[in-house]
Amino acid sequence: MVEAQGNTAPEVSEDEFRAEAEGFLGANARLKPPRRTAFGEGSDEVSLFPERSVEQEADEVAEAMSWARKVFDAGFGWITGPRSYGGRGLPRSYEALYRSLEARYETPSQAPRLIGLGMIAPTILAHGTEAAKRRYLRALYRGEIIACQLFSEPAAGSDLASVRTRAVRDGDEWVVNGQKVWTSGAQYSAIGEILCRSDTELPKHRGLSAFIVDMAAPGVEVRPLRQMTGGASFNEVFFTDVSIPADHLLGEVNGGWAVALTTLMNERAAIGGGGTGGGSSGGADLSRLVALARHLGVAGDPLIRQEIADTWINLRVARYNNERALAKIRSGQPPGPELSIAKLTLTENLRRTAELAAHILGPRITADSGEWGTFAWSKFLLGAPGMRVAGGTDEVMRNILGERVLGLPKEPPEPQ
Ligand SMILES: Cc1cc2nc3c(=O)[nH]c(=O)nc-3n(C[C@H](O)[C@H](O)[C@H](O)COP(=O)(O)OP(=O)(O)OC[C@H]3O[C@@H](n4cnc5c(N)ncnc54)[C@H](O)[C@@H]3O)c2cc1C
Repeated sequence: MVEAQGNTAPEVSEDEFRAEAEGFLGANARLKPPRRTAFGEGSDEVSLFPERSVEQEADEVAEAMSWARKVFDAGFGWITGPRSYGGRGLPRSYEALYRSLEARYETPSQAPRLIGLGMIAPTILAHGTEAAKRRYLRALYRGEIIACQLFSEPAAGSDLASVRTRAVRDGDEWVVNGQKVWTSGAQYSAIGEILCRSDTELPKHRGLSAFIVDMAAPGVEVRPLRQMTGGASFNEVFFTDVSIPADHLLGEVNGGWAVALTTLMNERAAIGGGGTGGGSSGGADLSRLVALARHLGVAGDPLIRQEIADTWINLRVARYNNERALAKIRSGQPPGPELSIAKLTLTENLRRTAELAAHILGPRITADSGEWGTFAWSKFLLGAPGMRVAGGTDEVMRNILGERVLGLPKEPPEPQ
């Protein structure tokens, strides 16, 4: 969502830019081999929350950052960003062009950087002090650091404005005490965007302030949370007398709600409008399930056939909806209701795909017999519910759609 263009003509034409990008990619990455959908070939991993050992995760993060540096130094790391902060100041269409070219090559997964780039960097650009923008934006886009989102607490999720983590001003600093939870990627993040209560007297939405916090500061403790699939992608983060310099405030004192809304709007765009919403269903390709159904001899079952067709249609509709939303954004219009729909359709499609896998596999999804491409789907099935909660639950998305898109009456306000 970061935008940075003036009315001046771009420094390079799209054709020149394409040639430059193709030259860089050709010299630094390998073209992807043709897509395999035959049953039994390649890796059978289909998980929404990949399980990695600490060492594997460290390698994945290092590879992501090393590729990010190469891309940035070649001029493709922050294509639309303002030049004054290290971006290239080019229109969104150039960004889309680069993404489509890069997608043809085998490049390291950038998953560990998605929250930092999709949500935190746009918030720093919109609400950060000059010092924070200079210190963090280039570093984030160049893959020198990773950022996490420190919003949710044990008693504040959907009702985010209820956060209790306290920030108290003390001279040139703020002192933070409290606990966050479900913080994805905190274990490898250098900074986090934290939402705190800065005034306990004001109504809950008006007594919040947001900051950038150094995750290595004394008093920050990150504890992993293990999920039902076995891995630990999330954390609890405890803050005990953590000092935050005053110039790390985002937006105004007690203006944290507006800052949080910027982050949440970008989160919905990043989750719903990203690759997973557009028909690939979180990496679990439908063609894999068709191959699986054929392998198990159930591809002729009329109920399975109907479910496959239904899933295919819904993935296709989601893709067209997302393309409409992205085309709007690219042309400089504000994102519309399509993005609220995108997150909800993504999770509905993940559920459909997971259920289809379970119906095709039957009891095979419950026990690991060692057979390729069978039990592997259990990780997908167990991960799909998490996506219905992350970034705003399905129910909250339905409320937003009902109230802001369909104009239905609002929920009765909670007593303050
Ligand atoms: C995979 C994953 C990654 C996450 N990563 C992060 C992260 O990096 N940083 C971060 O800060 N948080 C993160 N979260 C937390 C996430 O934002 C919260 O879990 C989410 O906002 C829901 O809050 P909650 O868990 O407190 O549930 P609650 O808000 O307590 O909701 C419980 C149930 O009540 C329903 N409900 C609540 N309010 C309403 C309402 N008004 N109308 C109808 N139904 C309602 C909900 O839909 C849900 O079913 C992550 C969560 C997941 C699952």
